[in-house]
Amino acid sequence: MRVKAFVAGVEKGKIDAFKNIQETVKDIKKINKEYHYFNEISDWLALAQVKQKKKGKLSGVAVSVKDAICVKGVESKAGSAILNTYKPLFNATVVEKVINEGGLIIGKTSQDAFGFGSFNVNVGNKMDIPLNPFDKKRACGGSSGGCAGITQKIGKAHVSLAESTGGSIVAPASFCDVVGICPTYGLVSRYGLIDYANSLDKIGTMGKTVEDAALLLEVIAGHDKKDSTSVKSKKVVYSTFVKKKVKGMKIGVLKLGKGVDKQVVHAVQEGIKKLEKEGVSIKEVSLPYTEKYGVSAYYLLALCEASTNLARYCGLRYGESGKLGGHFNEYFSKVRSAHLGKEAKRRIILGTFARMAGHRDAFYLKAAQVRTKIIEEYKKVFTEIDAIVCPAMPVLPLKIKDIDKLSPLQNYMMDILTVGPNLAGLPHMTVPVMKMKGLPIGMMLIGDHFNEDKIIQLGSWIE
Ligand code: GLN
Repeated sequence: MRVKAFVAGVEKGKIDAFKNIQETVKDIKKINKEYHYFNEISDWLALAQVKQKKKGKLSGVAVSVKDAICVKGVESKAGSAILNTYKPLFNATVVEKVINEGGLIIGKTSQDAFGFGSFNVNVGNKMDIPLNPFDKKRACGGSSGGCAGITQKIGKAHVSLAESTGGSIVAPASFCDVVGICPTYGLVSRYGLIDYANSLDKIGTMGKTVEDAALLLEVIAGHDKKDSTSVKSKKVVYSTFVKKKVKGMKIGVLKLGKGVDKQVVHAVQEGIKKLEKEGVSIKEVSLPYTEKYGVSAYYLLALCEASTNLARYCGLRYGESGKLGGHFNEYFSKVRSAHLGKEAKRRIILGTFARMAGHRDAFYLKAAQVRTKIIEEYKKVFTEIDAIVCPAMPVLPLKIKDIDKLSPLQNYMMDILTVGPNLAGLPHMTVPVMKMKGLPIGMMLIGDHFNEDKIIQLGSWIE
């Protein structure tokens, strides 16, 4: 059910929010047994919250939260076993805002540990891989795979708080046939988000429709004095841009490289036709610099930042610990070896290597310069158009057993279309466009900084 219609029903007394959330929790538990979308279901919290009868834009709406976003009193481990048992003493700002608008927190969703992945298969030790809602042999996409899977599978009114560093919202949204919005860097507070790479991390939204995802965005956007990188921007009611006329708007169709699946290309062309029918004009654009250097620059910057962020998980402060003994370095290594996964270890080693004395100028600073060039490349394109369109993922949802066969480099290359807008801090979203052999394909729209309204407006004509 659409969120706005549901909320209206609750306010008019036509829907019993208490009964509804009881049923929702029941559905979620059943779905979770089969598909593994949650690391933790907080039914007790949702039931306590509904009794408070808070009124707002999300009155009585079930809201799932990516595991990396802190919820007070609920185990929040960013998908990693090293944070087992960690229960935050506070809510992330976005969670606080959702609760203030009457939203009910139903649980923490599965993700690649710390956001390290594109398919949600890099889950923490002893955790289950979430399965694609259209074919259980396939992946949900990542890293916010649990958010996307449950958004697709649940019948009740529901939205999800997701997060992206290099594509983690649009990639799973595309694989699971839901809408995902990743905002401009700084539009939404990161306070209470377990960091992957601070200069890239953004909290965003998922919903079954553009309107649902836009509504959640208007709830969470805004300056927060607890996050010095959050921006004082003007308040925009994003959901009112849904189905606003797009006649006269201009989109740039991204020239794609060879690696993109033909079916994916075809699907996006169908989406473009829908916009043309509404009077949108089309132009081809290319981003050669971003295409050539985006993935390398992204992985250097992201892993450098990640390797410093993960230093805090040493068995003393948060989550798992061990028997104290020996030199402190031996103790830290023992705890980290036991509880961090393979991909986290790979990224710590790569990031630490790139940051070493003597390497900084060659790697980190170079990558930061490349990032500036990439921003300039986008800025130039946006002087002529309102949005760029392309696929989010170059492939259809992959089989889990085939992902296991990819080399780390092949894996990282899957982000070729998503790292650009993330490096440039640009808003981007995916909207389901069509299915091929029963598998969904999403179309990505990228806007200029703080132009979420425009991509929402355009995207609403595609769904
Ligand atoms: N796939 C990218 C990575 O592994 C992006 C993940 C993300 O946005 N958290 O870093």
